Amino acid sequence: MIKKKNSFQLSTKLFLAIMGASLSMGVVLTSVQISFDYYNTSKRLGELGSETVQMIRFPAFEAARNNDAGMARKVMEGLFAKPYVSEAIITNSSGQTLGRAIRNRTPTAYSWLSDHFFGDARFYSLPLAADTVVGSQGPGIAPSSGLASSSGRAPSSEIVSSPETLPPTMGTLSLKLDAAHNGSQFMSRALTTLYAGLFQSIGFGLILYGIIHGLITRPLAELIRSISEIDPRRPGKSVLRTPMGHDDDEIGTWVESCNVMLEAVAEYGRQRRLAEANVERLTNYDSLTELPNRSLFLKRLEVLTLRADNNGTALFYIGLDDFSSVNLLHSYRVGDRVLITLAERLRKCHPDEALLARVGGDQFCMAISKINETQARELGESLLQLVQQTVVSAGQSLSVFATIGVAFYPRDALTPELLLKNAEQVMLLGKSSGGNRVHFYSEIADHRQRASKQLEKDLLIAVENDQLCLVFQPQVNLFTGQIAGVEALLRWDHPNRGMISPDDFILLAESNRAVIPIGLWVLDNACKSLAQWHDAGFNDLALSINISAVQLHHPGMIHDLERILHHYGLPAGSITLEITESSVMEDLEAAIATMYEIHALGVRLAIDDFGTGYSSLSYLRRMPIDEVKLDRSFFTDLDGHINGIKIVEAMIQLGHSLNLQVVAEGTETPAHVELLQKCRCDRAQGFYYSEPRKADDFLALLSGKIALRTSSVAPSPVISASLA
Ligand code: C2E
Ligand code: CA
Ligand code: CA
Repeated sequence: MIKKKNSFQLSTKLFLAIMGASLSMGVVLTSVQISFDYYNTSKRLGELGSETVQMIRFPAFEAARNNDAGMARKVMEGLFAKPYVSEAIITNSSGQTLGRAIRNRTPTAYSWLSDHFFGDARFYSLPLAADTVVGSQGPGIAPSSGLASSSGRAPSSEIVSSPETLPPTMGTLSLKLDAAHNGSQFMSRALTTLYAGLFQSIGFGLILYGIIHGLITRPLAELIRSISEIDPRRPGKSVLRTPMGHDDDEIGTWVESCNVMLEAVAEYGRQRRLAEANVERLTNYDSLTELPNRSLFLKRLEVLTLRADNNGTALFYIGLDDFSSVNLLHSYRVGDRVLITLAERLRKCHPDEALLARVGGDQFCMAISKINETQARELGESLLQLVQQTVVSAGQSLSVFATIGVAFYPRDALTPELLLKNAEQVMLLGKSSGGNRVHFYSEIADHRQRASKQLEKDLLIAVENDQLCLVFQPQVNLFTGQIAGVEALLRWDHPNRGMISPDDFILLAESNRAVIPIGLWVLDNACKSLAQWHDAGFNDLALSINISAVQLHHPGMIHDLERILHHYGLPAGSITLEITESSVMEDLEAAIATMYEIHALGVRLAIDDFGTGYSSLSYLRRMPIDEVKLDRSFFTDLDGHINGIKIVEAMIQLGHSLNLQVVAEGTETPAHVELLQKCRCDRAQGFYYSEPRKADDFLALLSGKIALRTSSVAPSPVISASLA
């Protein structure tokens, strides 16, 4: 906000400066004038003495020569007609006074001051000799330079005369002239000059200030007032007014430029708001279905659960069954169409107060408050029906099925995150037991809860108690048959339960964040083993490490990775981090940002379990990935299933079309290897070559002490051709 006070400071400064300058100017000019007058008055005082003496010297001479006191008196009277004569004495040749007259001094208003400049009196003394008195005034008397004068308060005895150079005198004429008269006149003139000068300068200053104020400071103050009225939030709505009479000068041009600038600022603001809205949409909404994404859903779910009373909110986690086959058997365009249609159907059917979102590639969520279990079951069944309805896209009609997991707040989870996770768990569990059904968390919660609570406790101390270990599974180059890489797989040697697969504890570790120290332990130990194998001469060996979603979003991740690589002296390019599609989809933007940071270190990235989620091409293109790993589920029951073979072919082609390396997991049979070779898959990993092994056994595998099963597979003609 502009302070009003400031707008008047310039006026005051200008006023003071102009008045100061013109007054100084006035004082200087007046002083010059007064000095000049002073000089003239001083000169005039001198002349006055000479003139007076000149006037009476002859009668005075006659009075002295004739020793005539009466005549002398007359001379006195004549002299005292002049107001400035204050004393006159005529003496004869023997020094006797013939006539003397004195007039008392009448002080004038300024005599106290003028006396300082001119003295209080001037004294003149003239020897009355014939040649000094007569001269031009009368015959027989020569002009004389015998007149002496002095000023000040000195007595007449101090008057200078030089008798030896003068002819014999008849007497002396002494005069005392009062300087006060002329001094006063000078003083009153000086004061008049001073006042006039000062008034002139004040007048001049005021006129000058008026002009400058009218032309500059007043329009400036008007502009400031006009600017202070502008609403900074809406600069485009206000226009600066041109002060009157300034349309065609610099001020007018300035105002015009400011208005153009205000318009530009408003335009910039409009564009920024638009961009912000766009970013808001991109970060909170799914671009395909325009439904809220997982992060916005979670935020809204939090509000909903806060508002809902304890009677509960039901969360429906809808996972499409085997959706990847829709993409592969038809096309991604058809897959997208199906998802858009399902989103529209869900949007139409969901109650007003319910929340709806697309939380994953092939996953939707709906949350509804104030609903009981019976109503939830009915709603779940109707949602299944809704999904099953045929979708027609590009002339093809197809149906999809879904599995729905339902969890209740607060009964099944106390936070929105946990509610979502629990509903997802039930859905995933339901999928594994056949799909196309509604499952409730409460059905599995009890027994799972007890088991997982114990496991959770045990997990927290697993790292400290040295219960974790790693096994390594080779990745074989399908063209050379050589071990090209190795995947580190985690095992938990539980004191009571024996070896536990990561499938059974990673989710749990993610939920209580034990996955961070566990992940760090894996990273450190896997890199340690790789460094040992490099030292043993297997310099080209690459290592793949699995990274969980929680680890990916952990702020210390990049730093830990960098530190460990440096500690073991490993080239960054020898490490590949495997990330599952679903972990990336959880918070897509943040995940992509971290992936770029990892990639910037030189570390490779792979998408794990490729094809099991909804691998949208547009998402994949935005990620800095080097490799995709075909999930082992594609090879289950593959033999003889033409559709399955087509899917594997399509997935490998898709990976290559994105310029990515393709690694196939779960390679178990020679037929698998042959198929992969035919499809020009880059590497294969699976029990066919080797099960995961302890580090020492893996070294034996590397050095050939244990055989890798490769020879039993005859290279296909395609491979032979490419190798030849
Ligand atoms: P994954 O990354 O898909 O790992 C491959 C899984 O397939 C491994 O299971 C491996 O033992 C198994 N496998 C290998 N070859 C074959 C085969 O020919 N046939 C069959 N049927 N299975 C095969 P595992 O070791 O139980 O790991 C399961 C999952 O646990 C992994 O799946 C991975 O997602 C996760 N995981 C493993 N280690 C770690 C880890 O260190 N950190 C994290 N966050 N997750 C891990
Ligand atoms: Ca993996
Ligand atoms: Ca997998």
